[in-house]
Amino acid sequence: MNQVLEKIQKLKNKRNAVILAHNYQPGEIQDLADFTGDSLGLSIQASKTDAEVIVFCGVLFMAETAAILSPRKTVLLPDKTAGCPMADMITADQLRDLKAKHPDALVVCYVNSSAEVKAESDYCCTSSNAVEVVNSLPKEKQIIFVPDQHLGRFVVERTGRDLVLWPGYCATHVVITQDDIKNKKEKYPDAIVMTHPECTEPVKEISDQLLSTGQMLRFAKKNPEKQFIIATEIGIIHTLKKQNPASEFIAASDRAICPNMKKITLDKIIGSLEDMQHKVTIPEMISIKAKKALDRMVETLPTK
Ligand code: SF4
Repeated sequence: MNQVLEKIQKLKNKRNAVILAHNYQPGEIQDLADFTGDSLGLSIQASKTDAEVIVFCGVLFMAETAAILSPRKTVLLPDKTAGCPMADMITADQLRDLKAKHPDALVVCYVNSSAEVKAESDYCCTSSNAVEVVNSLPKEKQIIFVPDQHLGRFVVERTGRDLVLWPGYCATHVVITQDDIKNKKEKYPDAIVMTHPECTEPVKEISDQLLSTGQMLRFAKKNPEKQFIIATEIGIIHTLKKQNPASEFIAASDRAICPNMKKITLDKIIGSLEDMQHKVTIPEMISIKAKKALDRMVETLPTK
């Protein structure tokens, strides 16, 4: 073990800490984490862990989610500027205005949203269970879906429900174009295209599988020794390669990099554990309301 990893291990023991990392984190961070996964998997881990401290290697809304699900634990985000531009595309005030226009609607918010927005929502979902969450709601109910319009359209297509969508999007996923996929398919005609639902509709139209990152990992394991074109943030390719050395993984676009996810470094994890920085706390009233929506998310298991 090198010195940096040894130091992190010692600090983890001292603080009784667990390190959770999202699939989009830099490879070295995914490698040292106690658990790596998608938003749903990480939320479940955060709610179950016995550790006193959770070091969240991801972006702010993920650390907030962990803090809401585990209110007695200390949640640390190693870089406090690691935010999610999509989550910032809707505020609680904007959601309240939208609810006033559709007073009978239920609100489903994507986990990529602020704690305040979650507190204004009835249900929360991740990309792996958005379809199941919407399918579980009464047919006669109108549904507002925020903030990602592309995940929302995917849910419309899969459920046949007519959702009220918010025009949010992920800047990292929308850089992947249909031409990127066509070019890669020309070069690798036998490859299976796995695409995240946050991608645009023209990209999804010519993809083979629309999957969350956790579902991509499971699909690749079930289909060994294949070629895959990956249309999502490229950080996941590290774990895909590690888990499936006999398969080949090709990024649909090398531009699909989330700068916020890459803000977490090994040095920042050390600083975080040494100084117990940066604590993520949520005002109690917001936390209690948001937890109801999040508990419903964690209880709804994806079918894939
Ligand atoms: S990849 Fe997109 S949705 Fe995920 S954290 Fe980055 S900006 Fe937000």
